[in-house]
Amino acid sequence: MQVTFYGGAGGVTGSKHLIDTGQQKILLDCGTFQGQSDVYSRNRSLPFAPESIDHVILSHAHIDHCGMLPLLVKRGFSGSIFATGATRDVARYMLSDMAKIQEQDAGFRRRHRTGSPDSREPLYTTKDIPETMDRFVEVPYARDDKRWRDVAPGVKLKFYDAGHILGSAVTVLEIDTDDGPKRIAYTGDVGAPGTPLFYDPQVPDEEIDTVIAESTYGGKSHHPLEDMYGRLAETIKQVVARKGKIIIPAFSLGRTQVIVYVLHKLTDEGKIPRLPIYVDSPLATNLTEVFRDHRAIYDEESITDFRQGDAPLAFRNLKYTQSVDESKALNNSEGPYIVISASGMMTAGRVVHHLRHSIADKKNAILITGYQAAGTLGRRLLEGAKRVELYGDWFNVAADVLVFNEFSAHSDHAQMSAYLNRFKGIKQVLLVHGEPNQADDFKTELAAAHEDWIVQRPNEGDTVEIPPPASV
Ligand SMILES: [Zn+2]
Repeated sequence: MQVTFYGGAGGVTGSKHLIDTGQQKILLDCGTFQGQSDVYSRNRSLPFAPESIDHVILSHAHIDHCGMLPLLVKRGFSGSIFATGATRDVARYMLSDMAKIQEQDAGFRRRHRTGSPDSREPLYTTKDIPETMDRFVEVPYARDDKRWRDVAPGVKLKFYDAGHILGSAVTVLEIDTDDGPKRIAYTGDVGAPGTPLFYDPQVPDEEIDTVIAESTYGGKSHHPLEDMYGRLAETIKQVVARKGKIIIPAFSLGRTQVIVYVLHKLTDEGKIPRLPIYVDSPLATNLTEVFRDHRAIYDEESITDFRQGDAPLAFRNLKYTQSVDESKALNNSEGPYIVISASGMMTAGRVVHHLRHSIADKKNAILITGYQAAGTLGRRLLEGAKRVELYGDWFNVAADVLVFNEFSAHSDHAQMSAYLNRFKGIKQVLLVHGEPNQADDFKTELAAAHEDWIVQRPNEGDTVEIPPPASV
Protein backbone atom coordinates (compact mmCIF):
# COMPACT_ATOMS: atom_id res chain seq x y z
CA MET A 1 0.00 0.00 0.00
CA GLN A 2 1.23 3.49 -0.82
CA VAL A 3 0.41 7.12 -0.22
CA THR A 4 1.34 9.89 -2.67
CA PHE A 5 1.43 13.51 -1.56
CA TYR A 6 0.05 15.81 -4.26
CA GLY A 7 -0.30 18.98 -2.18
CA GLY A 8 0.02 20.20 1.39
CA ALA A 9 3.45 18.50 1.57
CA GLY A 10 6.47 20.77 1.93
CA GLY A 11 3.87 23.59 2.13
CA VAL A 12 0.60 24.37 3.90
CA THR A 13 -1.91 24.73 1.07
CA GLY A 14 -3.45 22.41 -1.55
CA SER A 15 -3.76 19.32 0.70
CA LYS A 16 -4.23 16.16 -1.42
CA HIS A 17 -2.95 12.81 -0.17
CA LEU A 18 -3.81 9.75 -2.25
CA ILE A 19 -3.85 6.31 -0.64
CA ASP A 20 -3.59 3.43 -3.12
CA THR A 21 -4.46 0.14 -1.41
CA GLY A 22 -3.85 -1.86 -4.61
CA GLN A 23 -7.65 -2.25 -4.95
CA GLN A 24 -8.92 1.22 -4.07
CA LYS A 25 -7.76 4.77 -4.50
CA ILE A 26 -8.87 6.93 -1.56
CA LEU A 27 -8.11 10.65 -1.64
CA LEU A 28 -7.64 12.47 1.69
CA ASP A 29 -8.76 16.09 1.10
CA CYS A 30 -8.80 17.93 -2.21
CA GLY A 31 -7.64 21.45 -1.38
CA THR A 32 -6.75 24.61 -3.24
CA PHE A 33 -3.23 26.00 -3.51
CA GLN A 34 -3.13 29.57 -2.17
CA GLY A 35 -0.63 32.40 -1.91
CA GLN A 36 2.07 31.64 -4.51
CA SER A 37 2.12 33.39 -7.88
CA ASP A 38 1.55 30.21 -9.93
CA VAL A 39 -1.60 29.07 -8.12
CA TYR A 40 -3.82 29.45 -11.19
CA SER A 41 -1.94 26.88 -13.24
CA ARG A 42 -1.30 24.62 -10.25
CA ASN A 43 -4.96 24.51 -9.31
CA ARG A 44 -6.09 24.05 -12.91
CA SER A 45 -4.05 20.92 -13.57
CA LEU A 46 -5.20 18.20 -11.17
CA PRO A 47 -2.24 15.83 -10.67
CA PHE A 48 -4.33 12.62 -11.13
CA ALA A 49 -7.21 11.43 -13.29
CA PRO A 50 -10.42 12.36 -11.42
CA GLU A 51 -12.23 9.25 -12.65
CA SER A 52 -9.48 7.04 -11.17
CA ILE A 53 -10.31 8.15 -7.61
CA ASP A 54 -12.81 5.84 -5.89
CA HIS A 55 -13.73 8.03 -2.91
CA VAL A 56 -12.70 11.19 -1.05
CA ILE A 57 -12.49 11.66 2.72
CA LEU A 58 -12.67 15.30 3.78
CA SER A 59 -11.04 16.34 7.09
CA HIS A 60 -12.65 19.80 7.29
CA ALA A 61 -14.08 22.57 5.16
CA HIS A 62 -11.24 25.10 4.91
CA ILE A 63 -10.64 25.88 1.23
CA ASP A 64 -7.05 24.62 1.29
CA HIS A 65 -8.56 21.20 2.11
CA CYS A 66 -11.85 21.15 0.14
CA GLY A 67 -11.63 23.87 -2.53
CA MET A 68 -10.93 21.59 -5.51
CA LEU A 69 -13.81 19.15 -4.90
CA PRO A 70 -16.13 20.84 -7.44
CA LEU A 71 -13.39 20.67 -10.09
CA LEU A 72 -12.82 16.99 -9.29
CA VAL A 73 -16.55 16.28 -9.73
CA LYS A 74 -16.80 18.43 -12.86
CA ARG A 75 -13.93 16.48 -14.45
CA GLY A 76 -15.33 13.02 -13.88
CA PHE A 77 -14.99 11.88 -10.24
CA SER A 78 -18.05 9.76 -9.49
CA GLY A 79 -17.47 8.47 -5.94
CA SER A 80 -18.63 9.63 -2.51
CA ILE A 81 -17.20 12.37 -0.29
CA PHE A 82 -17.17 11.24 3.36
CA ALA A 83 -17.31 14.02 5.99
CA THR A 84 -19.02 14.97 9.26
CA GLY A 85 -22.44 16.62 8.96
CA ALA A 86 -21.06 19.96 10.13
CA THR A 87 -18.24 19.82 7.57
CA ARG A 88 -20.80 19.19 4.83
CA ASP A 89 -22.97 22.13 5.95
CA VAL A 90 -19.98 24.45 6.17
CA ALA A 91 -18.50 23.21 2.86
CA ARG A 92 -21.69 24.22 1.03
CA TYR A 93 -21.08 27.89 1.99
CA MET A 94 -17.31 27.74 1.54
CA LEU A 95 -17.50 26.22 -1.95
CA SER A 96 -20.29 28.56 -3.10
CA ASP A 97 -18.20 31.51 -1.91
CA MET A 98 -15.12 30.15 -3.70
CA ALA A 99 -17.16 29.67 -6.90
CA LYS A 100 -18.39 33.29 -6.73
CA ILE A 101 -14.83 34.58 -6.24
CA GLN A 102 -13.73 32.44 -9.22
CA GLU A 103 -16.46 33.93 -11.40
CA GLN A 104 -15.67 37.51 -10.33
CA ASP A 105 -11.90 37.08 -10.76
CA ALA A 106 -12.22 35.48 -14.18
CA GLY A 107 -14.68 38.20 -15.27
CA PHE A 108 -12.26 40.91 -14.15
CA ARG A 109 -9.39 39.30 -16.07
CA ARG A 110 -11.52 38.90 -19.20
CA ARG A 111 -12.64 42.54 -19.13
CA HIS A 112 -9.14 43.88 -18.45
CA ARG A 113 -7.38 41.27 -20.62
CA THR A 114 -4.92 40.53 -17.82
CA GLY A 115 -3.49 37.21 -16.65
CA SER A 116 -3.05 34.10 -18.76
CA PRO A 117 -5.93 33.06 -21.07
CA ASP A 118 -6.46 30.12 -18.66
CA SER A 119 -7.08 32.41 -15.72
CA ARG A 120 -9.91 34.16 -17.58
CA GLU A 121 -12.09 31.06 -17.14
CA PRO A 122 -13.34 30.17 -13.64
CA LEU A 123 -12.20 26.74 -12.40
CA TYR A 124 -15.84 26.12 -11.59
CA THR A 125 -18.99 28.13 -11.02
CA THR A 126 -21.90 28.15 -8.56
CA LYS A 127 -23.72 25.81 -10.98
CA ASP A 128 -21.17 23.09 -10.14
CA ILE A 129 -21.85 23.18 -6.39
CA PRO A 130 -25.13 21.17 -6.10
CA GLU A 131 -23.67 18.09 -7.82
CA THR A 132 -20.65 18.22 -5.52
CA MET A 133 -22.90 18.51 -2.44
CA ASP A 134 -24.90 15.46 -3.62
CA ARG A 135 -21.76 13.34 -3.26
CA PHE A 136 -21.41 13.99 0.48
CA VAL A 137 -22.01 11.07 2.83
CA GLU A 138 -22.32 12.07 6.50
CA VAL A 139 -20.27 10.14 9.06
CA PRO A 140 -20.75 11.00 12.78
CA TYR A 141 -17.89 11.47 15.24
CA ALA A 142 -16.85 8.26 17.03
CA ARG A 143 -17.90 9.85 20.37
CA ASP A 144 -21.50 9.77 19.09
CA ASP A 145 -21.34 6.45 17.22
CA LYS A 146 -18.48 4.00 17.72
CA ARG A 147 -19.25 1.80 14.70
CA TRP A 148 -16.94 1.61 11.69
CA ARG A 149 -18.32 3.01 8.48
CA ASP A 150 -17.68 1.09 5.22
CA VAL A 151 -16.04 3.32 2.61
CA ALA A 152 -15.24 0.63 0.02
CA PRO A 153 -14.59 -3.14 0.08
CA GLY A 154 -11.76 -3.66 2.59
CA VAL A 155 -11.72 0.00 3.74
CA LYS A 156 -13.45 1.20 6.94
CA LEU A 157 -13.59 4.68 8.48
CA LYS A 158 -14.03 6.43 11.83
CA PHE A 159 -13.87 10.17 12.59
CA TYR A 160 -12.52 11.69 15.83
CA ASP A 161 -12.88 15.40 16.70
CA ALA A 162 -9.78 17.38 15.62
CA GLY A 163 -10.83 20.53 17.56
CA HIS A 164 -9.70 22.79 14.70
CA ILE A 165 -12.93 24.27 13.32
CA LEU A 166 -16.60 23.33 13.31
CA GLY A 167 -16.86 19.76 11.97
CA SER A 168 -13.10 19.11 11.71
CA ALA A 169 -12.11 15.46 12.01
CA VAL A 170 -9.15 13.16 12.48
CA THR A 171 -9.65 10.30 10.01
CA VAL A 172 -8.90 6.70 11.00
CA LEU A 173 -8.91 4.12 8.20
CA GLU A 174 -8.74 0.37 8.71
CA ILE A 175 -7.59 -1.24 5.49
CA ASP A 176 -7.39 -4.99 4.76
CA THR A 177 -4.00 -6.07 3.36
CA ASP A 178 -2.31 -9.44 2.67
CA ASP A 179 -0.59 -8.82 5.98
CA GLY A 180 -3.85 -8.34 7.93
CA PRO A 181 -5.70 -5.11 8.69
CA LYS A 182 -3.58 -1.93 8.89
CA ARG A 183 -4.69 1.36 10.42
CA ILE A 184 -3.81 4.80 9.13
CA ALA A 185 -4.70 8.05 10.88
CA TYR A 186 -4.78 11.39 9.06
CA THR A 187 -4.91 14.27 11.54
CA GLY A 188 -6.06 16.94 9.07
CA ASP A 189 -5.54 20.24 10.90
CA VAL A 190 -5.37 19.87 14.68
CA GLY A 191 -6.68 22.61 16.99
CA ALA A 192 -4.95 23.92 20.10
CA PRO A 193 -6.31 22.39 23.33
CA GLY A 194 -8.43 24.83 25.33
CA THR A 195 -9.69 26.78 22.28
CA PRO A 196 -13.10 28.28 23.12
CA LEU A 197 -16.14 26.70 21.41
CA PHE A 198 -14.38 23.51 20.33
CA TYR A 199 -13.59 20.21 21.99
CA ASP A 200 -9.91 19.44 22.51
CA PRO A 201 -8.42 17.18 19.82
CA GLN A 202 -9.43 13.57 20.50
CA VAL A 203 -7.08 10.58 20.31
CA PRO A 204 -8.21 7.46 18.41
CA ASP A 205 -9.10 4.43 20.58
CA GLU A 206 -7.49 2.10 18.05
CA GLU A 207 -3.81 1.21 17.61
CA ILE A 208 -2.49 3.13 14.61
CA ASP A 209 0.33 1.93 12.31
CA THR A 210 0.89 5.10 10.30
CA VAL A 211 -0.02 8.70 11.18
CA ILE A 212 -0.12 11.39 8.53
CA ALA A 213 0.23 14.45 10.78
CA GLU A 214 0.11 18.19 10.25
CA SER A 215 3.16 20.30 11.21
CA THR A 216 2.07 23.93 10.62
CA TYR A 217 3.70 25.17 13.83
CA GLY A 218 6.22 22.29 13.99
CA GLY A 219 9.02 24.54 15.20
CA LYS A 220 7.04 27.22 17.02
CA SER A 221 5.32 27.82 20.36
CA HIS A 222 2.20 29.88 21.04
CA HIS A 223 1.98 32.18 24.04
CA PRO A 224 -0.09 30.56 26.82
CA LEU A 225 -3.79 31.05 26.25
CA GLU A 226 -4.35 32.46 29.79
CA ASP A 227 -1.99 35.40 29.16
CA MET A 228 -3.87 36.43 26.05
CA TYR A 229 -7.11 37.78 27.51
CA GLY A 230 -5.27 40.41 29.54
CA ARG A 231 -2.98 41.42 26.68
CA LEU A 232 -5.91 41.65 24.25
CA ALA A 233 -8.01 43.74 26.69
CA GLU A 234 -5.04 46.09 27.30
CA THR A 235 -4.50 46.54 23.54
CA ILE A 236 -8.19 47.27 22.92
CA LYS A 237 -8.32 49.83 25.75
CA GLN A 238 -5.24 51.67 24.40
CA VAL A 239 -6.66 51.91 20.89
CA VAL A 240 -10.07 52.99 22.21
CA ALA A 241 -8.38 55.75 24.27
CA ARG A 242 -6.83 57.19 21.10
CA LYS A 243 -10.13 56.70 19.18
CA GLY A 244 -8.54 54.29 16.74
CA LYS A 245 -9.94 51.42 14.73
CA ILE A 246 -8.97 47.81 15.35
CA ILE A 247 -8.86 45.67 12.24
CA ILE A 248 -8.85 41.92 12.82
CA PRO A 249 -8.33 39.94 9.61
CA ALA A 250 -9.67 36.44 10.18
CA PHE A 251 -10.72 33.36 8.26
CA SER A 252 -14.51 33.55 7.96
CA LEU A 253 -14.62 30.03 9.29
CA GLY A 254 -13.30 29.26 12.75
CA ARG A 255 -11.25 32.23 13.96
CA THR A 256 -14.03 34.77 13.42
CA GLN A 257 -16.38 32.84 15.70
CA VAL A 258 -13.68 32.28 18.35
CA ILE A 259 -12.73 35.98 18.35
CA VAL A 260 -16.40 36.99 18.68
CA TYR A 261 -16.74 34.58 21.57
CA VAL A 262 -13.69 36.03 23.36
CA LEU A 263 -14.76 39.67 22.78
CA HIS A 264 -18.21 38.80 24.15
CA LYS A 265 -16.65 37.32 27.29
CA LEU A 266 -14.32 40.32 27.81
CA THR A 267 -17.26 42.72 27.35
CA ASP A 268 -19.50 40.83 29.81
CA GLU A 269 -16.70 40.74 32.38
CA GLY A 270 -16.19 44.51 32.05
CA LYS A 271 -12.59 44.06 30.89
CA ILE A 272 -13.14 46.09 27.71
CA PRO A 273 -15.56 48.96 27.11
CA ARG A 274 -18.78 48.18 25.26
CA LEU A 275 -17.66 49.50 21.85
CA PRO A 276 -19.13 48.74 18.42
CA ILE A 277 -17.89 45.43 17.01
CA TYR A 278 -18.59 44.49 13.39
CA VAL A 279 -18.23 41.15 11.63
CA ASP A 280 -17.89 42.39 8.05
CA SER A 281 -18.09 39.25 6.00
CA PRO A 282 -21.24 37.79 4.45
CA LEU A 283 -19.63 34.36 4.51
CA ALA A 284 -18.84 34.62 8.24
CA THR A 285 -22.41 35.78 8.85
CA ASN A 286 -23.81 32.75 7.03
CA LEU A 287 -21.40 30.43 8.81
CA THR A 288 -22.47 31.79 12.18
CA GLU A 289 -25.91 30.36 11.32
CA VAL A 290 -24.31 26.95 10.72
CA PHE A 291 -22.65 27.24 14.15
CA ARG A 292 -26.07 27.84 15.68
CA ASP A 293 -27.44 24.77 13.86
CA HIS A 294 -24.67 22.63 15.34
CA ARG A 295 -24.67 23.82 18.96
CA ALA A 296 -24.47 20.22 20.14
CA ILE A 297 -20.83 20.06 19.08
CA TYR A 298 -19.68 23.08 21.11
CA ASP A 299 -17.63 22.01 24.08
CA GLU A 300 -19.38 22.08 27.48
CA GLU A 301 -17.43 25.07 28.78
CA SER A 302 -18.74 27.23 25.94
CA ILE A 303 -22.31 26.20 26.61
CA THR A 304 -22.12 27.03 30.33
CA ASP A 305 -19.92 30.14 29.93
CA PHE A 306 -22.80 32.45 29.15
CA ARG A 307 -25.95 32.99 31.11
CA GLN A 308 -28.83 30.83 30.02
CA GLY A 309 -30.51 32.17 26.91
CA ASP A 310 -27.51 34.28 25.90
CA ALA A 311 -25.91 33.02 22.70
CA PRO A 312 -22.11 32.94 22.63
CA LEU A 313 -22.01 34.43 19.12
CA ALA A 314 -24.54 37.25 19.56
CA PHE A 315 -24.53 40.27 21.88
CA ARG A 316 -25.82 43.84 22.02
CA ASN A 317 -22.93 45.81 20.51
CA LEU A 318 -22.06 43.19 17.87
CA LYS A 319 -23.31 43.63 14.32
CA TYR A 320 -23.02 41.29 11.36
CA THR A 321 -22.89 43.30 8.12
CA GLN A 322 -24.11 41.84 4.84
CA SER A 323 -24.22 44.41 2.03
CA VAL A 324 -21.32 46.14 0.28
CA ASP A 325 -22.92 49.50 1.18
CA GLU A 326 -22.84 48.69 4.90
CA SER A 327 -19.21 47.69 4.52
CA LYS A 328 -18.33 50.93 2.71
CA ALA A 329 -20.14 53.04 5.31
CA LEU A 330 -18.00 51.37 7.93
CA ASN A 331 -14.82 52.24 5.99
CA ASN A 332 -15.64 55.91 6.31
CA SER A 333 -16.85 56.01 9.91
CA GLU A 334 -14.75 57.23 12.84
CA GLY A 335 -13.29 55.00 15.55
CA PRO A 336 -13.25 53.60 18.04
CA TYR A 337 -14.58 50.31 16.75
CA ILE A 338 -13.46 46.77 16.02
CA VAL A 339 -13.98 45.13 12.66
CA ILE A 340 -13.40 41.44 11.99
CA SER A 341 -13.20 40.70 8.30
CA ALA A 342 -11.82 38.21 5.75
CA SER A 343 -9.60 37.08 4.16
CA GLY A 344 -7.49 35.89 7.07
CA MET A 345 -4.19 36.28 5.22
CA MET A 346 -5.28 39.65 3.77
CA THR A 347 -4.88 38.44 0.18
CA ALA A 348 -8.34 39.67 -0.93
CA GLY A 349 -11.79 40.52 0.31
CA ARG A 350 -13.32 43.33 2.36
CA VAL A 351 -10.48 43.37 4.87
CA VAL A 352 -8.22 44.88 2.19
CA HIS A 353 -10.59 47.88 1.92
CA HIS A 354 -10.52 48.28 5.71
CA LEU A 355 -6.72 48.23 5.58
CA ARG A 356 -6.70 50.88 2.83
CA HIS A 357 -8.69 53.16 5.17
CA SER A 358 -6.67 52.48 8.32
CA ILE A 359 -3.15 51.20 7.77
CA ALA A 360 -1.49 54.60 7.28
CA ASP A 361 -2.80 56.10 10.57
CA LYS A 362 -0.90 55.37 13.80
CA LYS A 363 -4.11 55.62 15.88
CA ASN A 364 -5.18 52.26 14.47
CA ALA A 365 -4.13 48.67 15.12
CA ILE A 366 -4.11 45.50 13.03
CA LEU A 367 -4.32 42.28 15.02
CA ILE A 368 -2.90 39.19 13.34
CA THR A 369 -4.61 36.13 14.75
CA GLY A 370 -3.90 33.29 12.33
CA TYR A 371 -1.26 31.59 10.25
CA GLN A 372 0.12 33.81 7.45
CA ALA A 373 1.47 31.73 4.55
CA ALA A 374 4.59 32.71 2.63
CA GLY A 375 3.82 35.14 -0.20
CA THR A 376 0.73 36.71 1.43
CA LEU A 377 0.25 40.34 2.49
CA GLY A 378 -0.28 39.12 6.06
CA ARG A 379 3.15 37.52 6.03
CA ARG A 380 4.77 40.77 4.79
CA LEU A 381 3.11 42.77 7.59
CA LEU A 382 4.14 40.13 10.11
CA GLU A 383 7.72 40.47 8.92
CA GLY A 384 7.63 44.23 9.46
CA ALA A 385 6.97 45.66 5.97
CA LYS A 386 6.99 49.50 6.08
CA ARG A 387 5.11 50.00 2.80
CA VAL A 388 2.52 47.73 1.19
CA GLU A 389 0.42 47.63 -1.95
CA LEU A 390 -3.33 47.36 -1.43
CA TYR A 391 -5.44 46.94 -4.57
CA GLY A 392 -2.98 48.87 -6.75
CA ASP A 393 -2.07 51.76 -4.39
CA TRP A 394 0.89 51.98 -2.02
CA PHE A 395 0.44 52.81 1.69
CA ASN A 396 2.86 53.46 4.56
CA VAL A 397 2.35 51.08 7.46
CA ALA A 398 1.83 53.39 10.46
CA ALA A 399 -0.82 51.41 12.38
CA ASP A 400 0.37 49.00 15.08
CA VAL A 401 0.70 45.43 13.79
CA LEU A 402 0.26 43.07 16.74
CA VAL A 403 0.36 39.28 16.78
CA PHE A 404 -2.07 37.18 18.83
CA ASN A 405 -0.91 33.65 18.05
CA GLU A 406 -3.00 32.27 20.91
CA PHE A 407 -5.99 32.50 18.58
CA SER A 408 -4.27 30.04 16.26
CA ALA A 409 -6.48 27.25 15.01
CA HIS A 410 -3.48 24.92 15.13
CA SER A 411 -1.59 23.14 17.90
CA ASP A 412 1.99 24.34 18.32
CA HIS A 413 4.92 21.91 18.31
CA ALA A 414 4.66 20.97 22.01
CA GLN A 415 0.86 20.50 21.85
CA MET A 416 1.13 18.44 18.67
CA SER A 417 3.93 16.34 20.11
CA ALA A 418 1.93 15.71 23.31
CA TYR A 419 -1.08 14.79 21.16
CA LEU A 420 0.84 12.23 19.08
CA ASN A 421 2.42 10.78 22.26
CA ARG A 422 -1.04 9.65 23.31
CA PHE A 423 -1.55 7.52 20.16
CA LYS A 424 -1.01 3.78 20.58
CA GLY A 425 1.08 1.56 18.30
CA ILE A 426 2.70 4.17 16.02
CA LYS A 427 5.36 2.78 13.66
CA GLN A 428 5.54 5.59 11.12
CA VAL A 429 4.80 9.32 11.09
CA LEU A 430 4.53 11.26 7.82
CA LEU A 431 4.62 15.03 8.34
CA VAL A 432 2.50 17.15 6.02
CA HIS A 433 0.94 20.66 6.07
CA GLY A 434 4.08 22.54 7.10
CA GLU A 435 6.61 24.77 5.41
CA PRO A 436 9.84 22.78 5.15
CA ASN A 437 11.72 24.46 8.04
CA GLN A 438 8.75 24.00 10.42
CA ALA A 439 8.16 20.39 9.38
CA ASP A 440 11.88 19.55 9.57
CA ASP A 441 12.18 20.98 13.09
CA PHE A 442 9.21 18.85 14.12
CA LYS A 443 10.68 15.78 12.42
CA THR A 444 13.92 16.21 14.40
CA GLU A 445 11.96 16.65 17.65
CA LEU A 446 9.78 13.55 17.13
CA ALA A 447 12.64 11.34 15.91
CA ALA A 448 14.74 12.26 18.97
CA ALA A 449 11.87 11.47 21.35
CA HIS A 450 10.82 8.18 19.71
CA GLU A 451 13.58 5.86 18.49
CA ASP A 452 11.00 3.30 17.40
CA TRP A 453 9.11 5.70 15.09
CA ILE A 454 10.09 6.19 11.48
CA VAL A 455 9.49 9.91 10.92
CA GLN A 456 9.47 11.24 7.34
CA ARG A 457 8.75 14.61 5.79
CA PRO A 458 7.61 13.90 2.23
CA ASN A 459 7.80 16.54 -0.48
CA GLU A 460 5.08 17.24 -3.01
CA GLY A 461 5.01 14.38 -5.53
CA ASP A 462 6.67 11.83 -3.22
CA THR A 463 5.22 8.33 -2.79
CA VAL A 464 5.76 6.49 0.50
CA GLU A 465 5.20 2.81 1.32
CA ILE A 466 2.71 2.31 4.23
CA PRO A 467 3.17 0.79 6.69
CA PRO A 468 6.96 1.02 6.33
CA PRO A 469 8.78 -2.06 4.94
CA ALA A 470 9.95 -4.16 7.93
CA SER A 471 13.60 -3.92 6.88
CA VAL A 472 13.78 -0.14 7.25
ZN1 LIG B 1 -7.78 24.21 8.40
